[in-house]
Amino acid sequence: MTKKCICSLLQVFILSLLFSCNDTHKQNGTKPTQQKIPQEIVEWFEAWQLVSAELDLQDSINPVDFIFFDDSLVYTTSTTSTSKSKAIDGPSLAGRKTKWLVQPHFNQIFLPDGQILQPGIYSFAAPGKNGKPFFVMPLLSYWKQKGVESNELGLNKLVTGIFLHEFSHSQQMKGLGKLANELEAQHSYDVEFTDNIIQDYFVDDSAYKKLFSEEITLFYKAFEEGTAQQFLQQKDSALRILQKRHDRYLKEKGAHFIQLDNLFLTMEGLGQYLMYKWLVHPEGGGIDNRTALAGVRRGGKNWSQEEGLALFLCMERMKQSNDWIKHFFDRSNQYITSLFATQNK
Ligand SMILES: [Zn+2]
Repeated sequence: MTKKCICSLLQVFILSLLFSCNDTHKQNGTKPTQQKIPQEIVEWFEAWQLVSAELDLQDSINPVDFIFFDDSLVYTTSTTSTSKSKAIDGPSLAGRKTKWLVQPHFNQIFLPDGQILQPGIYSFAAPGKNGKPFFVMPLLSYWKQKGVESNELGLNKLVTGIFLHEFSHSQQMKGLGKLANELEAQHSYDVEFTDNIIQDYFVDDSAYKKLFSEEITLFYKAFEEGTAQQFLQQKDSALRILQKRHDRYLKEKGAHFIQLDNLFLTMEGLGQYLMYKWLVHPEGGGIDNRTALAGVRRGGKNWSQEEGLALFLCMERMKQSNDWIKHFFDRSNQYITSLFATQNK
């Protein structure tokens, strides 16, 4: 993948704040246009249905508005739109009735939080002005036009995975997403507040990187190799290093740094885990575990995604049922790291 997935409830993408976006839509007539909704939107929703059925999450989703765009049109379920919008038939998610609109965007993507963005390669979830989460993402043709590729997965599968990842963030907006916003507001930071914040603090610290690398290697080794006994040993060793890393490096910066690490490991880990689950599902991506893992990890460039995925995969290996995963979609603000701690007692 040449562009990284931007997980940015927290990153600000104000490219052009030209005027305030409070225009509620006025549909031109009530008849749906003859135009067809792009097929990938249908397929992305199907991907979510597949993963949510596999993980018993069907009853766990919160309402969210979608904003998808190509180089000329926006397809949206949001009522924040322009007078040029027309109704169009489109898919529903988890049986919820969904009204779709299509409209030309003239290089301005109106978002429910008041931002107006130029189209670009970005994909993120954020709360709208009314508190309802929304989620914005380019359509497949737009990714293609911009030359985005994935050697391991192919573009279609990569982008479906990105949809699932970002959709998971839209579901966490009122829980961990809210907590992230609070931690951002309550403290000042030397680097930009993103899901990579811990990485950005320690990227030039070779001793930290060495410890973190040992931790990651052990978590993946635990997941990928060995007997049940070896799994437990490796997973426990990795957790001890994680604890050491928190004590040695994060504690001195303040307790909120430990919270930030736990929070982004959880949010990013969940997003990556859903992507992985779809990729290896025979009716989804249909690819082998090793290729899927390489495609999701993308060389481990983003540390919170890299370790977060390993934590979710190890937790899956420890569990007999899917009950544990639901709590990452509610407002209990559970950290994946804390779940390990309770399992060990
Ligand atoms: Zn993310």
